[in-house]
Amino acid sequence: MQHPQDIPPPENPTLQLLLDTIRERRPTADLTMVQLAYEFADAAHSGQIRKSGVPYIIHPLCTAITLAQMNLDPVVVVAGLLHDVPEDTAVTIEELEKNFGKEVAHLVAGVTKLGKIKYRGIERYIENLRKMFVAMAEDIRVIIIKFADRLHNLNTLEHLPPKKQYRVALETLEIYAPIANRLGMGEMKGQLEDLSFKYVYPKEYAWVRGLVEERSEQKEAYINEVSQKLEAELAKQNIPVVSVSGRLKRLYSLYEKLLRHDKDIEKIHDLVALRVIVKNAADCYTALGVIHNIWRPMPGRFKDYIAQPKPNGYQSLHTTVFAEQGKIVEFQIRDEEQNMNAEFGIAAHWVYDETGSKATKQIKWVRELAAAGDAMTRLKDLENLKIDIFENRIFVFTPKGDVIDLPENATPVDFAFAVHTQIGNQCAGARVNDRIVSLDQPLKSGDVIDIIVDKSKKGPSADWIKFVKTTHAKTCIKQYSKTSLANWLKRALPTRGK
Ligand code: MN
Repeated sequence: MQHPQDIPPPENPTLQLLLDTIRERRPTADLTMVQLAYEFADAAHSGQIRKSGVPYIIHPLCTAITLAQMNLDPVVVVAGLLHDVPEDTAVTIEELEKNFGKEVAHLVAGVTKLGKIKYRGIERYIENLRKMFVAMAEDIRVIIIKFADRLHNLNTLEHLPPKKQYRVALETLEIYAPIANRLGMGEMKGQLEDLSFKYVYPKEYAWVRGLVEERSEQKEAYINEVSQKLEAELAKQNIPVVSVSGRLKRLYSLYEKLLRHDKDIEKIHDLVALRVIVKNAADCYTALGVIHNIWRPMPGRFKDYIAQPKPNGYQSLHTTVFAEQGKIVEFQIRDEEQNMNAEFGIAAHWVYDETGSKATKQIKWVRELAAAGDAMTRLKDLENLKIDIFENRIFVFTPKGDVIDLPENATPVDFAFAVHTQIGNQCAGARVNDRIVSLDQPLKSGDVIDIIVDKSKKGPSADWIKFVKTTHAKTCIKQYSKTSLANWLKRALPTRGK
């Protein structure tokens, strides 16, 4: 059984390990640039020592290895090696551009612009968020490099003074992990959270860790028994299996779930989940049938995220069954590509879709947020922006079945603007699950919404502002009433002069 919370950085990070990591995944990649970047960074940082006592180059090297493990393009790996050069040495971005080209320089400049973010109260926090969104909208790879950078800093956090440890870890929990989650980078989110957990909530961390350790050993034998039975059955049905493995729930997400369930570990059914990886989506459904045929499914616990992926792109079948001796076990079934996506999210899309069209669609919400962030300078508005992303989300559907994700209690008007500004502007009514509803009715997950459009309508009603929930809808309504007010003033006020 895997303990996902224990993924340390490589014990002996070397240039060779980095090159091997890339070659393993991209046998034809040209590694000359990576080698040069390593030598360049090593020379630039020479004489600098990390707080842990190791030469500074170890840090960018570990950052680059993480990026290579995520199978990112060597250009991103090169930028990872160079990410602290302009900030910490005399070398400038211009020199990087001369040596490594525009793309690398642009990525490093993006990381540098984000700066060494520090968590200092709500104002700085929101300012940081805004910076993150602007950077993301420009080039999402900048944030991915920042994640890898942060991961290594967290792994070596023990060498910093306690006050600083707390600040870095809290900022990770509050800013980095939620963004990783929204980008569908489950593995990254989980690692960032678990590494920060013990610094932000040390007592709670010890408690949850104790709970898991007590149970994981007894569960291990049981999970092995269930996996073997399933593997034998899948083989009988001629379903090729990539892997079946038990995975302990990550500590921080277990902690959050415990808080929602009276802190009672007995109420948590997915402390261990069995992850079944097969060759293709069709086999996922066959495997599901096999599982339900051996063990009785628990009613209401089956979720088909393959047919209807989560908005962050996550795809899997989830089911919970009464397995051997009537014990409750959760299964997650997915194919190899879905598994890559679940772990690396948006980062995996650069691998699968180099034209970028898929990735572009995925980050549309990032662009919208950045645009909204730019238009708003007042703190209160930025706080709304924060709520938009981190509040609980609901998932609703267009009549064609496209998923739109919205904050809880969003209304048909929020939905209309999320689909298209024009639809929002001309929204005259709404049908939710085939029933006409009022425009301020809160939507629920799973609702199918059909907006009734009035083509003759010029713009949104100003009083919608009273009930809409998303920043995007608010911005659109305000912008429209501002321009219409200006037009009205122009008409109403006598023109002077001439
Ligand atoms: Mn760094």
